[in-house]
Amino acid sequence: MTPPPVPFAAIVVAAGSGSRAGGGKQWRTLGGKPVVRWSVEALLKAGADEVVVVAPAASEVEAETALAGLNGWRLAVGGETRAVSVQNGLNALGGHPDRPVLIHDAARPFLDLALIHRLVAALVGADGALPALPVADSLRRATDGWVSGGADRENLWRAQTPQAFRWRTIVDAYAAWPKDEAATDEAAVVERAGGRVRLVPGDPRLMKLTYPEDFAMAEALIPRQVRVGQGFDAHRWGPGSSVWLCGVEIAHDQTLIGHSDADAGLHALTDALLGAMGDGDIGDHFPPTDPQWKGASSDQFLVHAVERLTARGGRLINVDVTLICERPKVKPHRQAMRERLAAILSLPLDAVSVKATTTEAMGFTGRGEGLAAQALATIELPA
Ligand code: MG
Repeated sequence: MTPPPVPFAAIVVAAGSGSRAGGGKQWRTLGGKPVVRWSVEALLKAGADEVVVVAPAASEVEAETALAGLNGWRLAVGGETRAVSVQNGLNALGGHPDRPVLIHDAARPFLDLALIHRLVAALVGADGALPALPVADSLRRATDGWVSGGADRENLWRAQTPQAFRWRTIVDAYAAWPKDEAATDEAAVVERAGGRVRLVPGDPRLMKLTYPEDFAMAEALIPRQVRVGQGFDAHRWGPGSSVWLCGVEIAHDQTLIGHSDADAGLHALTDALLGAMGDGDIGDHFPPTDPQWKGASSDQFLVHAVERLTARGGRLINVDVTLICERPKVKPHRQAMRERLAAILSLPLDAVSVKATTTEAMGFTGRGEGLAAQALATIELPA
């Protein structure tokens, strides 16, 4: 990684109520981590020696939870307006008055390291640096849903954050800003005070999460990797009158013996999911020595694995289970098993496969000593 040109600090403004995006958007999860965490991680990784997160009053718990395990950030309390929030953040920063400060909106999570370094470098010989994108669409004015003339897009740019300034420049500019006027952004404040703000190429991925539907678009922008996991399980036959397989109870003249309900199909599938995540195996999560899992319905093991996947921002793509036994006949129950798995996993039916085979009377399954199950799971995880 390229080192930062000079030491710099950052302010991440997470103080808005975010009402247009459904409220509290800075704490919402995106790709398995809270929105605010994306920027704070990026700034720390880019070499920021101090990051102040400005959050609404009484949101310490949300902030601590969202940023757990990260070092180098601290909290400042937000104000009535964005301008007050930024100034609270500036007051909370120490360091040299000429130190560059990047002021960023938490609602723009996909902050690129190269852009951060570009901004800090652009401050040489300028009073501020602003990432911006050219306006590609043509611009129109409209009144009550009717087009009423056009507007020239030449020399128009879409301003993004972070915006970079030396600490002293932005503090002085805010001091000179008329109290009764709302500031659009820091660049406007510095410009009004006579400063020259340099334009730096922005980043289209640095989109702002404004409306609820923006979250779906942002999720789609997160690079993901496809992974595969496999699982295997076997249980011994014993006296009984029914057997659980893939979450379905089948009348049978024997049952499978185990600590839980001995559903080998669900156990193999749970291991396949955990395997794809590199997250241990079913015994790590549900020790057979633990009395609370005695006779337990195995669908909860699978649900747990899916929850672990969801918590990491992952998604299940498809599963494929093979049951290996001479008896009972699986085929009459296959559709019910697929439907049950699809329901547990929230997958469409065509993404769930249950197959069965015998071993031609060979081996422990062939001799009727036990039943075995194999499973594969394909998942997607944020890369
Ligand atoms: Mg088992």
